[in-house]
Amino acid sequence: MNINAHRYQGRFFEWLVIISCLLCVQSGSIILAQNPDLFPCGTPVTKDPWRQQYLLHQLKFRTPAGELLQIPLKIHLVGSDEGHGFYSYLKLMSALCQLNNDYLDAGIQFFIFEDIDYIYNSAWNNHETVLEGADMMFRNNDPRAINCYIASSAAGNCGYNLPYAGVILAKSCVSGHTWAHELGHNLSLQHPFLGWEGKTYSYDNPTPKTVTYDYTLFKDSLITDTTIIDTAYVELVDGSNCTSAADRICDTPPDYLSSRWQCDENSKSTVLQKDFNGEEFYSDGTLFMSYSSDECQTRFTPGEIDLMRATILHKKTFLLDVMPPVYKEVADVNQLGFPSHEEEVPFDKVSLHWEPVAGAVKYVVQVSLNKSFTRIKYQGITDTSVITFGLKTPRAYYWRVFAFGRTDYCSSASPRGQFVAIDPVSTNSPGNDVVHFHLHRGSDGRMTLRIAPFHAYRLTIDQYTVTGDCTSHPICVHPKSTEQTVKLSSIPGLNIVVAKNSQQQLIFKKIYFNQ
Ligand SMILES: [Zn+2]
Repeated sequence: MNINAHRYQGRFFEWLVIISCLLCVQSGSIILAQNPDLFPCGTPVTKDPWRQQYLLHQLKFRTPAGELLQIPLKIHLVGSDEGHGFYSYLKLMSALCQLNNDYLDAGIQFFIFEDIDYIYNSAWNNHETVLEGADMMFRNNDPRAINCYIASSAAGNCGYNLPYAGVILAKSCVSGHTWAHELGHNLSLQHPFLGWEGKTYSYDNPTPKTVTYDYTLFKDSLITDTTIIDTAYVELVDGSNCTSAADRICDTPPDYLSSRWQCDENSKSTVLQKDFNGEEFYSDGTLFMSYSSDECQTRFTPGEIDLMRATILHKKTFLLDVMPPVYKEVADVNQLGFPSHEEEVPFDKVSLHWEPVAGAVKYVVQVSLNKSFTRIKYQGITDTSVITFGLKTPRAYYWRVFAFGRTDYCSSASPRGQFVAIDPVSTNSPGNDVVHFHLHRGSDGRMTLRIAPFHAYRLTIDQYTVTGDCTSHPICVHPKSTEQTVKLSSIPGLNIVVAKNSQQQLIFKKIYFNQ
């Protein structure tokens, strides 16, 4: 947890201003939703002097093309006070994979900065106001990275970005392109429909030349209750006012739609709009910064990309101070090791091994009741190619492994394995020595009794048919520090295997069926 107390105090008053703006914007009804209960984005329109300078003097902010910019993200996962409900590591990897795909054309790739921060705080996890979200950020932010929080609630939004603080995403909105959208805000982008937030466009009404919107300008002095109304030009189809209208980026065409909308097969809006010259158009749904649905969105425009790269190289240069990891792809795990197919293992201590892959720094292991892995009974993370855990129920399970690198968060599942978790009978015996047994059926159908290492005394093993006939002479097993196996006779029908200690006390009995 990183707290920059000095900065916290210094920024606090600034935040009151920004927050009051946020609340205005929200109450102004940014309606939307792929999750119908949530606003799509709670990010306010803000006036950023650096951005104004950029838009006026873009030539001064030229950035070298082709250079990959690797940006640190400090990930904060928020759960309950008791430590429940954290966003799953595997889903986080999938979301980061999507995020980096979304930023490939921009030449920007994000990496996880240092360890993931797990925050145990039910109030922050379910925060209902941006003020609480800001408090969480101030107390936990790391000033060396873009801070991203994933919580159950993002103050009623799918996500929001607070300038100078970071991004918060609601768990139900992490997949898809919301993260790309909010980081776009963090890197100076605004909605292509800027000025229309909270308004409902109607073709039947005359389109205005300008729209006004709530904007509380941040000044050096404290303003807690002042709402400043600003004016934006409404963008024309012919592009003649694109440098001064809406987001002031000319290759994002006019868009007046500020509620979540579905696109047609050409990724255009189905809502026809017209500018104040009477020229008609449909909105471009491919843009991440629009409010089109996730299925429509595929891109940032070159103008947006230039602005984001310039923000990193000229404004938020601290993001380049962190030494990035070597950019490297990691192969999927393609070979599982132990247990081999359908092998029996004690259910209370399952140990899984697989072939490590070069460059992998984390593996996620899933154990499921079904082949489709929709009934997960165990999910674990490890940085080695082995993991040991206990299961609650003896039965057959499927397992698979995902591999992740320091910059590669995309992984397909390994081939599927299967093992049989059995109940190893254990008995306390004189001398407090505990002996573990389990029966194993080999691929040839023969049964074997496996005896874990034991130390105190000699065992005798007998095998009977169900009628009580002894099928073999008793087998004597001496203490040994390694696992021992006893091959059993192949007598069809029900069999009973019995183990006794040196005092002839029964310490194991199992009935099984032989083919
Ligand atoms: Zn937004």
